Amino acid sequence: MEAMLNLRLPHATVLTDPDALAPYRQDESHLKGSEPLAVVCPRSAVDLRELVRFATAEGCGLVPRGAGTGKAGGCLPTARSIVVDLGQWPGRIDISRQNLTLTAPASAWLRDVKDSAWEANLFYPPDPNSWPICAFGGSLATNAGGPNACKYGMTRHWVLAVDALMADGEIHTFGTGSVKQNVGPSLAQLLVGSEGIFGMILSATVRLVPRPTEFITLLLPVAEFQSLLDLPGTLCAAGFLPSAFEFFDPAVLAELRTHGPEEARRLPGNALAILEFDDRGCTSEGFIEALMEALGPISEQLQIASETRQRDQIWSLRRLTSTFLKERHPKKISEDIVVPRSRIPDFYSGLERQQIPAVTYGHLGDGNLHVNLLGAGETEPCEVERQLLALFRLCIDLGGNLSGEHGIGLAKRDAFLALTDPHQIGLIRALKGAWDPAGIFNPGKVI
Ligand SMILES: Cc1cc2nc3c(=O)[nH]c(=O)nc-3n(C[C@H](O)[C@H](O)[C@H](O)COP(=O)(O)OP(=O)(O)OC[C@H]3O[C@@H](n4cnc5c(N)ncnc54)[C@H](O)[C@@H]3O)c2cc1C
Repeated sequence: MEAMLNLRLPHATVLTDPDALAPYRQDESHLKGSEPLAVVCPRSAVDLRELVRFATAEGCGLVPRGAGTGKAGGCLPTARSIVVDLGQWPGRIDISRQNLTLTAPASAWLRDVKDSAWEANLFYPPDPNSWPICAFGGSLATNAGGPNACKYGMTRHWVLAVDALMADGEIHTFGTGSVKQNVGPSLAQLLVGSEGIFGMILSATVRLVPRPTEFITLLLPVAEFQSLLDLPGTLCAAGFLPSAFEFFDPAVLAELRTHGPEEARRLPGNALAILEFDDRGCTSEGFIEALMEALGPISEQLQIASETRQRDQIWSLRRLTSTFLKERHPKKISEDIVVPRSRIPDFYSGLERQQIPAVTYGHLGDGNLHVNLLGAGETEPCEVERQLLALFRLCIDLGGNLSGEHGIGLAKRDAFLALTDPHQIGLIRALKGAWDPAGIFNPGKVI
């Protein structure tokens, strides 16, 4: 683009070579983006101001990108857009032990954010299974969930303040570092989970809690998959709230066992749940006895992963499941629907009734299930579309929704627009118009 010559970015790295641009056309979704005009890695407020000036004048988009692990195509370039890779945005991780807060730049790896808190005897719970490889900024922009969301809630619950680039080309601070604040609607919270359509998150301050001192990790293999489905509701009703409650259905477990890494060969059961508790006293005999009573007869199969090595192995297997399935079935489509935990059994009967040939794993404890259509590549596109629409309608009818954690991005945009109350879509569009009148931030995503 001729006009790119007018882009003056004193501190940024600018990529325009097609080979260098190619990786930016992908994330972890099944989609491929357009070739961007350029990829820019800004390092200063001057760079950002110039990017906004240029995009507004030339009518092109600015697509924020963290580590590109998103599963909804949110960071993929659309036509006439510049990818803004925030990986080099400056800043360091700061912790206030007195305030129980942590401030970090968008460029920080989420693993470094979590590790820094842990080393200070504190805990930042958000843990998308991509935490070793995703950026703090991306986790904020997608309001990432993860296994711990079951007990600790999603990223949104932890955010106090956000610094963001706005359409006027300036960096504004939304919220404060105080753990309590109540001054009208929270604009910081609007930015969290907005997938880059209102502006670009540059740094944030989040809450921390004291680090849990005890853990217990349990494997619950079952012969009948159905016997797992009531458990999240049953456990909560009995007063237990696991810090994680994950599962593999029989098909995913069989895939892992047959084709997965060596450690997966030893996974027990026809279907398998992984339960973790981090309450004080959770390793005591009394706690385990009470838990077994709440679980009922299937608790006879319960196995305790007592050693750290065993626990790490289980979690690393859980974390690799998404990538493993994608490598085995490159054309699969993966959804991350959610239903209230009390409706999980109804969800599975609905899948059968609607003839949706899905395999599932994920966050059973909060009803956020990863539903994979492994054969999507070999199925007529109109049939895949029918299956997806039926899947989303089923979740909405059960009081859930079409995304529990990955967001809308490009992948779910059409379904989101088709299935959401038009009044609410109108409100989101009005907000978009107010925050970003020229429509430069992540155009074509979400709405
Ligand atoms: C193996 C694997 C497991 C996963 N497990 C989970 C899980 O358990 N829970 C979960 O929620 N997700 C999960 N994900 C999805 C994804 O990793 C997370 O959503 C992650 O937080 C995205 O971070 P990222 O830095 O890669 O963002 P990207 O993919 O780079 O971007 C994601 C979206 O955020 C926008 N964005 C990125 N940075 C900014 C910014 N600074 N300002 C404004 N907008 C921005 C992008 O435009 C895009 O719309 C998983 C992904 C993989 C590959």
